[in-house]
Amino acid sequence: MFLKHHLDQFLDNFPRERHLANDPVQFVRRYEDPRDREVAGLIASAFAYGNVKIVLRTVDRALEYLGPRPAEAVMAFDPKRDLKLLRGFYHRFNTSRDLAVLFWILRRTLEDHGSLENAFLAGPPDAAERLDGFGARMLGFGHEQFYPRGELQKRIAVRFFFPAPSQGSACKRMNLFLRWMVRPEDGIDCGVWKRVAPKDLVIPLDTHIARISSYIGLTDLKSPGWPMAVQITNNLKKIHFEDPLRYDFALCHMGIAGDCPRKRDPVKCRRCPIQAVCRL
Ligand code: SF4
Repeated sequence: MFLKHHLDQFLDNFPRERHLANDPVQFVRRYEDPRDREVAGLIASAFAYGNVKIVLRTVDRALEYLGPRPAEAVMAFDPKRDLKLLRGFYHRFNTSRDLAVLFWILRRTLEDHGSLENAFLAGPPDAAERLDGFGARMLGFGHEQFYPRGELQKRIAVRFFFPAPSQGSACKRMNLFLRWMVRPEDGIDCGVWKRVAPKDLVIPLDTHIARISSYIGLTDLKSPGWPMAVQITNNLKKIHFEDPLRYDFALCHMGIAGDCPRKRDPVKCRRCPIQAVCRL
């Protein structure tokens, strides 16, 4: 197949190690213990929005609070005692309180389910319903102690950590977390979870993936939401059924690095490794 041939070649020659330095998955890879990797992964993906340099700084700082054993540290997290330690933390509209709520959510999830994988698998097998259920479970732990009115308001920033496919969201950060956990160890993804198959993942759709996917014919949809993420994933399944997200890291970092500009650039396009399949 023409597209498969060119994407495989692109992937084989992609300098992944160089791009890893600009990806928050590097923080997950700091840890050996799968429990630490789950916790670090959820935190790193939660803040994976905005400028990449700021994302890396934020994630580094958030994990610094938890020390060398993040899973143990969140299990010991006590909002009354520890909230003040996080003072001064912020990432765009997320504040130290949102980080504290996230630590609390992680603690309660590990207490109730034993692992994030168990909590994820507690939902139905359909990808969208499972993500909906996972988010609802995470947001369902008692958060009264964090809010003066004792409830999670509809527009509260912490909800942004757990978007829902049923509301049309592409759920980029959550799908990124799942990719890190589920895809087998390959120097980027970590193969932490063994009970979810890579073929059941949905692509973490960001602006780069949306744009490049439309250039190479993986989507004809215009607005980047859950339906576009599913359409791109289904088209990738036609060329690699068992592991459709294997191209995601390389395609996304091609965009992040500016190697595929928003407007056609004859110089960059001439040396583009997927030029043969680009329709722009
Ligand atoms: S040929 Fe140009 S526009 Fe097309 S994918 Fe490559 S860099 Fe992007």
